[in-house]
Amino acid sequence: MSNALEIVCDACGQESLLRREPVYEGFTKVGESLSCMACGHTYADEADVPFKSGAPASIFSDADKSKLPDVFDPDVDTRNCRNCQNYLQNPFTQWCTVHRKDVDALDTCPSFKRAEPKEEEDPLF
Ligand SMILES: [Zn+2]
Repeated sequence: MSNALEIVCDACGQESLLRREPVYEGFTKVGESLSCMACGHTYADEADVPFKSGAPASIFSDADKSKLPDVFDPDVDTRNCRNCQNYLQNPFTQWCTVHRKDVDALDTCPSFKRAEPKEEEDPLF
């Protein structure tokens, strides 16, 4: 478990992180100090902490979410630019010769024409 939790600070109004530090009396831990990492404002109780609302932080970006199903679903994958005869790929770019623009291997296109199966290895893999 991470100790860093997202808050929207009451004191400074920023999206910040909660700093959670043990408080000692002598050598005995007597509690925790909860404070804003941005401004240092301390919260007396965890119930007072303005945790950022919503779901826990996602480990995937939105871009990852939209790509993942395409990669692993062979039916969706089959009409992608990477399988099109108009798709050119080199180490620097992926290019559609019909639309004359950069494309992504997983793009779909109304001008899709299935490429003949190639014998050579895909240079990226
Ligand atoms: Zn603050």
